[in-house]
Amino acid sequence: MINVFKGYKGRALSTLKEFQMRVWGDAVIKTTRGEFSGIILPRSENDDDYHIVLKLKTGYNVGIDVNTITDMQEVGYREAHYKIPEKDFPFSPDKPRVKLFGTGGTIASRLDYRTGAVIPAFSPGELYGAVPELADICNLETEKLFAVFSENMGPKEYMKLAVAIGDEIARGVDGIVIGHGTDTLHHTAAALSYMIQKSPVPIVLVGSQRSSDRPSSDAALNLIHATTTASRCEIAEVMVCMFGPTSDEYALLHQGTRVRKMHSSYRSTFRTIGDTPLAMVTRDKFTYLKNDFNRRRKDRHVEIKPYFEEKVAMVYYYPNMMPDIIYSLIDNGYKGIVIAGTGLGHVNKPLYPAIRKCFELKIPVYMTVQTLWGYVHMFVYDTGRDLMSSGVIPTGNMLPEVAYIKLGWALGQSSDPATVKEIMLNPVCHDITEKEPYNGYLIYQGGIPEVEEFIRKFHK
Ligand code: ASP
Repeated sequence: MINVFKGYKGRALSTLKEFQMRVWGDAVIKTTRGEFSGIILPRSENDDDYHIVLKLKTGYNVGIDVNTITDMQEVGYREAHYKIPEKDFPFSPDKPRVKLFGTGGTIASRLDYRTGAVIPAFSPGELYGAVPELADICNLETEKLFAVFSENMGPKEYMKLAVAIGDEIARGVDGIVIGHGTDTLHHTAAALSYMIQKSPVPIVLVGSQRSSDRPSSDAALNLIHATTTASRCEIAEVMVCMFGPTSDEYALLHQGTRVRKMHSSYRSTFRTIGDTPLAMVTRDKFTYLKNDFNRRRKDRHVEIKPYFEEKVAMVYYYPNMMPDIIYSLIDNGYKGIVIAGTGLGHVNKPLYPAIRKCFELKIPVYMTVQTLWGYVHMFVYDTGRDLMSSGVIPTGNMLPEVAYIKLGWALGQSSDPATVKEIMLNPVCHDITEKEPYNGYLIYQGGIPEVEEFIRKFHK
């Protein structure tokens, strides 16, 4: 759950008292490791008694070990106000109806989510107070389903979300927005791509890399772009809507099965892998980059398929991986395994007997590639052929996380390996494509003329 302020206690509190410091004080703290300046933040539920949490001018928070503090001084005081002024979200009969589901993450945080000093901004009134432009776009209804950081999202949440979205679509909304932590946004996007089929309206997942108290926050703009997409975009697919370039010119819409978080802190972190994004979106227009998508069609009936087998594992292969990893999955009752293999889809020889054992026990093993771009090709080397004869099934260019989610979804429907294979290899929402843009992986890395020219400007 999102942290709540518990007050300082124990050693941290006595240190603050000793130096006559206050929470929200603008502090200069001298420690044996150097000097730090910033605002002393309230302690969150999960912090220990030995650290004082400081928000640095950069916006990042650091925990300072009280045992290292030699001096502290308050040079100012800046209490934060948690409450967002609530304003009634205006209703305009001519605007589309959009439903926003909240699940948590940074986008749901008013102040930095790591401090504990956060409030979820989710009632329509709070959102309108924070981002008034939303009222120019749509009539917004909101519902907080969960309040978790996205590492805590999982099958139960995926299924609950899918059912809630199905109900809302049946009520006739024009689009769905899901506010979500960015870390596992792409897992949830894949899960919803499988669990919600034939949607008549866009289903748009959105997050933010920086909380809304930071000047560089992407929260408001991402929300504006996501609600614009849910309201008016022609693409009725499960999509991720996030910052496109590093500036705030436009957002990109990514297919839910082809998207991945690619940078731990940049706002332009989400990228389509193995394909082109579906579209660009600005406040006033969509530029469609593809045309093979399901179009918005209000008379289409959505199908909700909320299935998931939790005992599925993803194994990221590394040199010298030992077979006991696979045997322990077998012993612990795992029902399916996705391997992210090296190169074209390889693992070392010592793993072969363990993989063969999986096959004998009808535990399906699917192969994906760690390179992310490109396809599994298991016919090229003997090793690949050996693996296939041990029952390993290649999954084309399905991304490893997507194959993991799809296997959970497939095994949730059947335990028969042949049926599971049919589900796995039947492309859904472009999770497996016939070809990838040949230069997609080269963009901004060199190797194509435009990019070489771009790079030359910096290396005269
Ligand atoms: N840890 C957060 C989450 O995924 C990060 C974010 O929201 O960007 O929930």
